[in-house]
Amino acid sequence: MHSAQILRPPSVDRVLNWPSVASLLVEYGRQPVLAALRSLLDELRQSAHASSSGYEENSIACRLNERLAQSQAPKLRRVFNLTGTVLHTNLGRATLPDEAVQAMILAAQNPCALEYDLATGGRGDRDNIVEDLLKELTGAEAATVVNNNAAAVFLLLNTLAQRKEVIVSRGELVEIGGAFRVPDIMSRAGATLKEVGTTNRTHLRDYEDAIAPRTALLMKIHTSNYAIQGFTASVPEAELAQAAHARNLPFVVDLGSGTLVDMAQWGLPHEPTPQESLAAGADLVTFSGDKLLGGPQAGILIGSADLIKRIKKNPLKRALRVGKITLAALEAVLRLYRDPDRLPQRLPALRLLTRPVQEIQAQAERLLPSVQLALKPWSVTVGAEPAFSQIGSGSLPIDRLESHAIVIRPQGKKSGVLNDIEAALRGLPIPVLGRIADGALRLDLRCLDDEAGFTNQFSVLSNP
Ligand SMILES: *Cc1c(COP(=O)(O)O)cnc(C)c1O
Repeated sequence: MHSAQILRPPSVDRVLNWPSVASLLVEYGRQPVLAALRSLLDELRQSAHASSSGYEENSIACRLNERLAQSQAPKLRRVFNLTGTVLHTNLGRATLPDEAVQAMILAAQNPCALEYDLATGGRGDRDNIVEDLLKELTGAEAATVVNNNAAAVFLLLNTLAQRKEVIVSRGELVEIGGAFRVPDIMSRAGATLKEVGTTNRTHLRDYEDAIAPRTALLMKIHTSNYAIQGFTASVPEAELAQAAHARNLPFVVDLGSGTLVDMAQWGLPHEPTPQESLAAGADLVTFSGDKLLGGPQAGILIGSADLIKRIKKNPLKRALRVGKITLAALEAVLRLYRDPDRLPQRLPALRLLTRPVQEIQAQAERLLPSVQLALKPWSVTVGAEPAFSQIGSGSLPIDRLESHAIVIRPQGKKSGVLNDIEAALRGLPIPVLGRIADGALRLDLRCLDDEAGFTNQFSVLSNP
């Protein structure tokens, strides 16, 4: 009772005059320090365990500093993606090449001729920044860019198929990443979905029988994140294009990933390219900027000049357009495609996808001792083992890339330890994200390029 009465917190003004707090004022500014200090003092007052030492200058300054540092830390944190999925949607998909980063900084820090024609001094069109490159690289007549591929598909359907029907095979009604479902996008765009065929087999006559006066277009959707195997049939793009054109209808393709070069030349699974779809007769093709293309988040529409013109006139184009920073990055990435031979060195997404397994294995063996040391207090065994990475984001999940991983297994039956380690790795200054599967925590090293940054932080790994 008596001691509780002498435990009185110092006044705000007094604390602000302490030399150790004065330095926080310089670093964080008066308002943030005041707010943090008031809430800290409130908490101390209410805390039943307050001891006189809790009110000492050192203790208060230290806790204040912690609080301010925490509240000022960015929400968007860098992580190590050791999940084994290279283009991981939840981890921001493709990382960008230096050329793109430099272009983004320039665009961010300076006024730029985004919609300004420097030749005439008149108004320009932001699509012009990348349209010529897209035309050159794909052979398309015209191109436009929106926020992402979901927006591209939405805008296409809303422009060409509102209050009309769109014919799609039942085998292609995909859901991507939970939030993009073809039937939902279709109805929100005001189009009616006309499903044809069956889940595993769709024939040309299914499409032809479904064509009616209200038909707006025929659409093919690349089933990017799953494969239907066994007794299957789908109609080649060229036949669909022919059937559509015979009735004066456009044929459009949502490629999802889509890349501008043949990935097979680097030993990767072949991914359909927009050029192939155009050559087969597609009138419009849509694809993502940040999947295999390796650029910023964007949705790219290429194809007939007439249809692109109609799409650009849709007022929703204004709502879905991209900003200058995206365009700066996209332009820089597209420019790299002019020199496809050097792409694997220059484009991070492709560099990671084509990393030789021997190199990843050597890295795993190099890092193994330090990971073993860091995990010594835990009852686990840590080894280096072969693994398989996935491309992710719109490439077949059945296509696997040989890789190597640091694999952590519980000693004995205490499998809960893996969840604890996984959480501890997530709590590191640069969180390390692995994957628990088949009774082991796997750290696939395919995407680890900052080796020093990875090991340097293990000293602060919390103990069990
Ligand atoms: C990924 C994907 C989309 C959505 O693209 P975002 O760029 O993520 O909006 C649409 N269709 C297909 C086939 C896809 O693979």
